Amino acid sequence: MNHSIMPPNPRKLIDTHCHLNHPDFNADKDEVLQRASAEVGTIIVAGYDLDSSLLACRLAERYETLYASVGVHPDQAVDWNRSRYDSLKELLSRPKVVAVGEVGLDYHWHPETKSKQIEALAAQLDLALELNKPVILHCRDAHTDLLDQLEIYQGRLRGVMHCWTGSMDEAIRAIGIGMYLGFGGLITFKKNVDTIQGVAAEALADRILLETDAPYLAPVPHRGRRNEPSYLLLIAKRLAEIRQIPVEEIRIITSQNAARLFNLPES
Ligand SMILES: [Zn+2]
Repeated sequence: MNHSIMPPNPRKLIDTHCHLNHPDFNADKDEVLQRASAEVGTIIVAGYDLDSSLLACRLAERYETLYASVGVHPDQAVDWNRSRYDSLKELLSRPKVVAVGEVGLDYHWHPETKSKQIEALAAQLDLALELNKPVILHCRDAHTDLLDQLEIYQGRLRGVMHCWTGSMDEAIRAIGIGMYLGFGGLITFKKNVDTIQGVAAEALADRILLETDAPYLAPVPHRGRRNEPSYLLLIAKRLAEIRQIPVEEIRIITSQNAARLFNLPES
């Protein structure tokens, strides 16, 4: 095993995608972080519009274990314009902002804004390339178009396809382009996820990451309720079962991968 790259806290998990900036956490953020602290050493708070991106930056400045990513989600792409680009660029210069995201394509909820989504995505990928930041990608029913966009940057851009839902062929293509795959609560669901679990079992070890996507997609047995970063251990345990290796190994591998991708400092 390669020990040359150590995670920020080698004893703990890294939640690479969490929305502690969501209003669902307004009332009890400190308690949520306290519950996570035993197992989760670092949390990346992902923005989805300008307000939530700014809040992610502020949280990262306030809490030692938090880092921020800033971006405009495809759901908000209809409002994309030059001033949003300028605002994001300013946020990306702040301390502890480690990525552009979440950005991407969502044809499930917003098929009517396809061209605007691609415009917003392309501009934000250019920004990531210019500032040498990784990207956090959201994708729903749009894998072919998203991978086509990413392929333009082949070998020059790194990032994660968060909450992986694609096929094995799409996973192979994403990894070939230089992407990591984020696995969350979906891998704990019993039904209709054979493909996701198949990819989780087979994906290259040095390209897998853990995430909660809290407050969404809580893992079993909390499915349907608010998700939170302390549940990341349930996801790590399930991934360990799927890959038939000890959870300890999942922790080491995924924390090293996250530290490498997001250039997280050692603590
Ligand atoms: Zn998200």
